[in-house]
Order: sequence, then C-alpha cells, then structure tokens
Amino acid sequence: VDRLTEFLTHPGYRTFLPYLGVSFFAAVVITLWQRKAKAGEAVLAHVFPGDVYRHPSARLDFVYAVLNTLLRSVLLVPFIALTGIIATGTMAGLEQLCGTRQGGAAEAAWPVHLAYSFVVILAVDFGMWLAHWLQHEIPFLWHFHKVHHSAEVLVPATAFRFHPLDDMGTAALVGVFGGLADGTFRYLIFPDAALVTIAGINVFLFAFYLAFYHLRHSHVWLSYGAILSRIFVSPAQHQIHHSKARPHWNKNYGFTFALWDWLFGSLYVPRTRETIEFGIGDGSEGEHSSVLRLLWTPIRDSARSLRHRN
Ligand SMILES: [Zn+2]
Ligand SMILES: [Zn+2]
Repeated sequence: VDRLTEFLTHPGYRTFLPYLGVSFFAAVVITLWQRKAKAGEAVLAHVFPGDVYRHPSARLDFVYAVLNTLLRSVLLVPFIALTGIIATGTMAGLEQLCGTRQGGAAEAAWPVHLAYSFVVILAVDFGMWLAHWLQHEIPFLWHFHKVHHSAEVLVPATAFRFHPLDDMGTAALVGVFGGLADGTFRYLIFPDAALVTIAGINVFLFAFYLAFYHLRHSHVWLSYGAILSRIFVSPAQHQIHHSKARPHWNKNYGFTFALWDWLFGSLYVPRTRETIEFGIGDGSEGEHSSVLRLLWTPIRDSARSLRHRN
C-alpha cells in the first residue's frame, strides 16, 4: 500500500496527484470552454467519455501501465549509472584536451544551479528526441516503437505503453546526452553544480509534468498556438504524432521542447482543431491487442525483418 500511495504522492512519478489534478482541471475547463457539454449534461461524461475509457485499447493501457512501471523500475536502473559514467568521462576528456580546469568560484549562486538544471533537461530532452526519431526512421526499431502507436484511443495510461526494449533505447540516449551536458557544464562553468529540485526531481521537469502533461494522451484538444508551439510540445501536437493520417506521420517527435522538431524539420503545428484517428496506420493495431502481444509482436516482427534481409 505504501508503494502504491508513493505513486500518487511523490513528484518523481508521472502519476503524482497534482500532475493528474492540473490536467483534470484543465480538461474540465476546456470542455466547458469548447461548449461540448450542453446545459444539463454531465461535464464528467465529456472529460471521461465511455467510448474512450471503456475501449479495449484503454483497458489494455491500464493493465499494461502496471507491468511497464515494474519493468522500468528494474530495467532502467543501469542507465542511471550510465549518466554518471559519461559525465565523468566527459570531464576527464575535456581535461586531457583543454587542460586542467582553473579553479573557478568556490561557491556558486543559485542562478548557476538553475542554469545547470536547465542545461541538463535540455540535453536529456534532445536525447529523447533523437531516440524517438531513430525509433521511427529505423525499421528494426520501429517494430518496438509501434507498441506506443498501437493505442487506438489515448488515455493518460497510454504514456506507459512502451515496449521495454524501446524504453531502454530511449534511456541509453538520455544517459549519453545527459552525461555529456553534465560533464561539460561542470568543466566549463562550475564543478559542484547541483540540480535545483522539488522533492528530488529537476524543477523544470516538475513544471513540465504540471503543465497539462496528461492531456497529450487524451481526447482533449489543447494547442499552444503558432508561436509557443515552436518551443513547447502542446498536447495537440503529441496527439498529431499519434495520428493514422499520412500527413501527420513522423511529425512532432519532441517530449518537452518542440525546438528540435523545428530545427530538424519534423514540426507540425495544427492551425485549427483537427479530428484525429489514433493508431499505427498500417492496420496492425490488432496484433497489439493484449499484454502478451505488446511484448511479443515486436520481437517476432523484428526477428522476421532480420531474416528477410539475408
Ligand atoms: Zn512515436
Ligand atoms: Zn504518445
């Protein structure tokens, strides 16, 4: 029970109650704003529509989310160490190349720590963007990433619909880029830089999760407009990423920042509200319709694709 309440009370988990609460509150406001609920109708029936929340895809997401959380808690542990190893290596490498770092201030003011926290989140976000790009562009990796796109309706639990190997690939690039940024910052700016945290998590990540994180995996449409959508990934932009429609394919790989998509040409900013059908787009959603299939189908398909290459 303690472990269960921790998922709701610790900001390190995406299921932290305030993250869910802000998204829920926003969903209610948006529903009222868009006048979806006619007078006398229950707003909640529009925030949690039966055709979405009772859909087999949503039911599977709720079950799979538990398994994914368990798997991640075991499989992703080594990648935490990876960040530290890369950071130490980066510092050692820079000292070899550019000489030993000359002293610097003995104590850093909080803006330095805040800048460090921002640089780390930016680098980690780029690692996630690059991993996501590779997962779409490399056919072998796409078999595993398809699991996330096989969701036919989006609910907050869809955020956990990832194959463990897909998760590990992302964690590897997060570790590499997080470590590179960490080591470089320590060498160039301040060796004892520390993350500014709220209950142990980077303050910027905390703010990101609080800012309607759970709406991206939902039917609720929230776009940030033409300008802000170039900097931050809006819920609408991620919903576009889940679309079956061809013009939407391979767009909006970003997690927190849309900057990478803007820079590398994969940005898609919706101009008006779009009606989106969610799924893979090649009709293979049915092959991902149970927990076992979510785990097995990518292994089967990637093995097949390797055999056909020979
Ligand atoms: Zn994707
Ligand atoms: Zn998604």
